[in-house]
Amino acid sequence: MATPKVALVTGSNKGIGLAVVRALCKQFPGDVFLAARDVGRGTAAVENLKAEGLKPLFQQLDITDPQSVRAARDYFKENYGGVDVLVNNAAIAFKMADTTPFGTQAEVTLRTNFFATMDMCQVFLPIIKAGGRVVNVSSVMGSIALSKCSAELQARFRSDDITEEELTALMERFVKEAQEDVHSQRGWPSTAYGVSKTGLTVLSRIHARRLRQERPQDQILLNACCPGWVRTDMAGPNATKSPDEGAVTPVYLAMLPAGAEGPHGQFVSEKTVQPW
Ligand code: NAP
Repeated sequence: MATPKVALVTGSNKGIGLAVVRALCKQFPGDVFLAARDVGRGTAAVENLKAEGLKPLFQQLDITDPQSVRAARDYFKENYGGVDVLVNNAAIAFKMADTTPFGTQAEVTLRTNFFATMDMCQVFLPIIKAGGRVVNVSSVMGSIALSKCSAELQARFRSDDITEEELTALMERFVKEAQEDVHSQRGWPSTAYGVSKTGLTVLSRIHARRLRQERPQDQILLNACCPGWVRTDMAGPNATKSPDEGAVTPVYLAMLPAGAEGPHGQFVSEKTVQPW
């Protein structure tokens, strides 16, 4: 019997991730894994979707815990020979009113949204199967943060030759300069969440380029996206979209049909490629 196809959505016990799992359960021709860092919250979410008549499976996965990430990778490699669809959705955001010092917010936010997502990619990209789809849930906040960076930083973030090493060094520099309270004078905007998502969108562009160079036959499509402003614990009740509406663009990218040539390496919102 052929190995079934498999989709994995990180941070999907609630919010947009949960809605992505719900939609994939209806549309994806294979097994769909709801992943959560907390087993209790994750299995409760799985049970709720089962009550809707859907059949998600569960995987424990804390993207900031290298052991958890490697254990998940080993599980998918052993049982499915890899992963067909990966949606990197897990992220955090401090509330606007939070009084935690900016340097701490920068360190904590980038640790999950940028560095842990990068580690996830490092471990999982090698097991993405031919024809696979990778969706990095970024944000328009990353594009806005980009537009507020110094001209020099903007040029690097928009360049087609920036490497993962250079990007990592720039993200580390942001955290350090935020901690020293000199980030503004060094050309950074005062938004930790925004910069973390600038980093994620740039990382997506780098990874897409590398896939084209290193695995041209495999026709993997990898993109970053913005789900829109969505009513979740992160964005609050005043946001304009329901979680199911927020899932539309990530699911569209996850379900790009076999043989599609693009989008690839793009930042997409409302199912439309946006300028970077
Ligand atoms: P949310 O409701 O706060 O959900 C975030 C999810 O990420 C939760 O399941 C959370 O798990 C999980 N998570 C956090 N840290 C994790 C870790 N270390 N390992 C694994 N999972 C972790 O947020 P959301 O609004 O659905 O956001 C989903 C994605 O959309 C994020 O990437 C966010 O930046 C992006 N986004 C959201 C909006 C919006 O308007 N909502 C707009 C643009 C982009 P716990 O329950 O355990 O905390």
